[in-house]
Amino acid sequence: MSAAAGASAAVEGETVGRAATDRPVLALDIGGTKLAAGVVDPAGRIASFLVEPTHSAEGPERTLERLFALGRKAVSESDVDWSEIGGGGIGCGGPLDAERGILIAPPHLPGWRDVPVGALAAREFERPVTLENDATAAAAGEHAWGAGAGTRNMVYLTISTGVGGGVVIGGRLYRGSTGNGGELGHVTVDWRGRACRGCGRRGCLEAYVSGTSIAERAREAGLGVVTATDVAAAAGSGDPVATAVWDETVEALACGLTSIVNLFEPELVVLGGGVSRAGDRLLAPVRTAVRADAMRPAGETVRIVTSAFGDRVGVAGAAAIVYARAARG
Ligand SMILES: [Zn+2]
Repeated sequence: MSAAAGASAAVEGETVGRAATDRPVLALDIGGTKLAAGVVDPAGRIASFLVEPTHSAEGPERTLERLFALGRKAVSESDVDWSEIGGGGIGCGGPLDAERGILIAPPHLPGWRDVPVGALAAREFERPVTLENDATAAAAGEHAWGAGAGTRNMVYLTISTGVGGGVVIGGRLYRGSTGNGGELGHVTVDWRGRACRGCGRRGCLEAYVSGTSIAERAREAGLGVVTATDVAAAAGSGDPVATAVWDETVEALACGLTSIVNLFEPELVVLGGGVSRAGDRLLAPVRTAVRADAMRPAGETVRIVTSAFGDRVGVAGAAAIVYARAARG
């Protein structure tokens, strides 16, 4: 870590440049379990896509070395020449300092503190590199080219190991003061409720509907299941305990989304992340509940859909933020 920190002083200025908006970008995504890399062009076409395990316990230097190698491989496996790549984008869970390209202390990467990932990537690739919160980036990707294309007001919610959010208001990405806004997973659904691992408070949406929390609640209820997918499958085959756990998941998600819909009155809510792959088992009852509970007219007009990019939303998003940042100037 000290070498990585030392490198920041030398190369920090390199992230200041803006990528060209008419060239493909190298997009990288740092998840708690998976690293992803791809080449994405200004029309949102994903020319290559590669994934490998994160192994974050190896520490930032070793993991970033593998991430950068994965990025180079993604370029060589695409039909885009390295000289055509205009810049890089990186999506990662916060907290982070998007302007300076620094990961502050992401809970999904234990032991990573103040890692200047933007500067390190800019030095590695000799191009400007943009860092953004991964859920904010995913919102940008869905808004630019995916389920939210053409919308003015849109909310993206990723439901996976944790729960993250991204918000588009008036056609523009809302980022907060330092790029840490839109943490919709920490909307409170029960202020005396379950402990939230992500932020330390109680009763956050994340503490009920993240994949981790669904599996945890199922085990507490006596089910011998491992993942949220197991719970959804057992509920689907009529297991009464799994059904109760799944119903609670639906209620918690509908409760959180109702507050979010009341807050933003979005035209569209896009759900991504592994848990959203449960599809209509999750979406159908959530749509009904939000429509019934949200204030009028917001609840009646909002559409709730799943991500258009699916597993590739992290890479699409990491590219979209490069173009969004370049356009912002
Ligand atoms: Zn929380």
